[in-house]
Amino acid sequence: MHCAREKSSGAFILLTLQLIMAHQIPTDGTLLPLMEEFYTIQGEGYNTGKAAYFIRLGGCDVGCHWCDVKESWDAESHPLTHADEIVAKADTYPGRAVVITGGEPLIYNMDYLTAKLQEKNILTFIETSGAYPLSGSWDWICLSPKKFKAPRPDITPFANELKVIVFNKSDFLWAEKYAESVSPTCKLYLQPEWSKRNEVTPLIIDYVMANPKWEISLQTHKFLNIP
Ligand code: SF4
Repeated sequence: MHCAREKSSGAFILLTLQLIMAHQIPTDGTLLPLMEEFYTIQGEGYNTGKAAYFIRLGGCDVGCHWCDVKESWDAESHPLTHADEIVAKADTYPGRAVVITGGEPLIYNMDYLTAKLQEKNILTFIETSGAYPLSGSWDWICLSPKKFKAPRPDITPFANELKVIVFNKSDFLWAEKYAESVSPTCKLYLQPEWSKRNEVTPLIIDYVMANPKWEISLQTHKFLNIP
């Protein structure tokens, strides 16, 4: 006959095995591959300058060659973490907003995490390529479409902000294509790809002056040398 202690140690071993085995990520969104989390200032887009807790989830198959977080791509290299644990940490900071980013966070079901954050009166912001179905309850959706894996057409109407990364001249035409598919109230941003900023920023300046529905987004956190 098993005593209660043996049972609880068995359950613990089972849970540990579940966490370290190839990620079996539950579809209810309670466990997520967490790459990093940190409190900082949102550096880009509409919410630039606001204090926010960043939650970076591992896993992305979009494959941008200029990606500056390639270490996020492999979900398996990031520990499965309970969403309650993530929320509890976010709740310890005075800034009442989180930015959920990746990787591509919409690979996972965001319903549970965002509901729990909003229960704590924390605003939920997401940065997504839009390549996966929309889940979660969001106070702000930043859609940053990528050429390498197109966003789903059913996600673009929900974007509060369209942020196009400009790597070369052809990206302006591409940006206009997506500007047609977002809602009329969606904010439109052009952001220089960091490694090309010296070449493309002057082009963006000219473009925005000629097409003022667009605004410039800069990665101000990189200039400020903060995460
Ligand atoms: S979508 Fe984002 S995380 Fe994924 S490859 Fe592109 S820049 Fe990197």
